[in-house]
Amino acid sequence: MTKLLVKNIGYLVTMDATRAVWRDAWLLAEDGFITATGTGTPPAARGAEVHDARGGIATPGLVNTHHHFYQTMARAYTPGNNLPLLPWLAHMNKLWRPFTADDLHLASKLAMAEMMLTGCTTTSDHHYVVPRGSGDNFAAQFRAAAELGLRFHGGRGSMDVTSGLIGDWAIQTTDEIMADVVRLHREFHDPAPGSFRQVFLAPCAATSASRELLTLSAAYAREHGLGLHSHCAETVDEDKFSVEKFGRRPLEYFADCGWDFEGVWYAHGIHFTDAEVAWLGARKIGVSHCPYANMRLGSGICRVNDLQAAGAKVGIGVDGSASNDSGHVLGELRQALMLCRVKYGAESMSVLDALAIGTTGGAALLRRPDLGSLVPGKCADVAIWPAVDLFSSGCENAVDALLLCYARQVDSLIIGGRVRVAQGQFTGLDLPALIAQHHARARQIHAALN
Ligand SMILES: [Zn+2]
Repeated sequence: MTKLLVKNIGYLVTMDATRAVWRDAWLLAEDGFITATGTGTPPAARGAEVHDARGGIATPGLVNTHHHFYQTMARAYTPGNNLPLLPWLAHMNKLWRPFTADDLHLASKLAMAEMMLTGCTTTSDHHYVVPRGSGDNFAAQFRAAAELGLRFHGGRGSMDVTSGLIGDWAIQTTDEIMADVVRLHREFHDPAPGSFRQVFLAPCAATSASRELLTLSAAYAREHGLGLHSHCAETVDEDKFSVEKFGRRPLEYFADCGWDFEGVWYAHGIHFTDAEVAWLGARKIGVSHCPYANMRLGSGICRVNDLQAAGAKVGIGVDGSASNDSGHVLGELRQALMLCRVKYGAESMSVLDALAIGTTGGAALLRRPDLGSLVPGKCADVAIWPAVDLFSSGCENAVDALLLCYARQVDSLIIGGRVRVAQGQFTGLDLPALIAQHHARARQIHAALN
């Protein structure tokens, strides 16, 4: 049995049902799960590794529900820096012809490192660019996650029709895609509590997936209890395309293809009507809210509070690093808080409401009842933030300052009872070497087009 005692926690933000915040607390983990929490003097815990939280703020590890790791190699890519979604995609997609599984491993590792330093302990990725001959992309992502000790939900993304936004070299047949889904499901999906790896199905979008692929994906996910994910209702252009091509609004079209059950979650979900919001809520369907990308591409504002009131699940998503252009998960919650207040007013979302989207909300969306709060029985996934830093010095309410002040990095990060970051540094990763290798390879890919 492995034991970890986390002592000297200044603030324990439990995110339990009452959203209790405890002062001067401790947390005990055994074999990856929280077994006890308390305040005052910690227990003796014989044989336990002791981790000093240095008076910091402990929150549940953050859960990221939408990303495209490969895009870390196209941040601030000049041709698309001032464009909306579709022309931005057309420029960026040209970059990926030489992209290999090794490149995806490198990009994934960089993306994961960034998220871990900003509090993330579980992430999904929606990877759908599979250049012909590029190797086993999805296995490369699971390998990167295992090397870092991060919980990873890998989306088997797919495109089986030409959208005009990317070359035929990235299009696979429906049969190829579904055969690979079966393989990945067998090889990588672990549904047990405490799981570090899960597989979900993720056709890229209704613009690049056939009706057959959307329908087969939904049927497979439903039959096997896997997650099902795609982009939906991101832009008004998408509404127009869908009505012209299918005679249906985007959500209606997905529903026609069987995307109507709990386990489905859509990225962005901005342009839903009142009736669609109610329909999503009644089915407990999820929406991955990606505030920064929505602002960056001028797509619109997600109706977070309406979706939650209707019963839909809302999680946070940093989206791809080319439309964010960073994967700072705590920073994304800060953006969610601010954007909600732009839409609904200053009293519409508290800091704890925003933290809930990034913890319990994301856990519910990924159907992970073992994640999202710091209570006995849950996974020992803890982000510990410095209680005061340059950007929060002088604060009166340390917990509210986590989001009201400029977003900070973790002091330490624990995943499944293992300390992966201590005193702000990775315990098992040479970060400067990773950045150097990643940046050099990204510059090669950019240069190949010039
Ligand atoms: Zn996306």
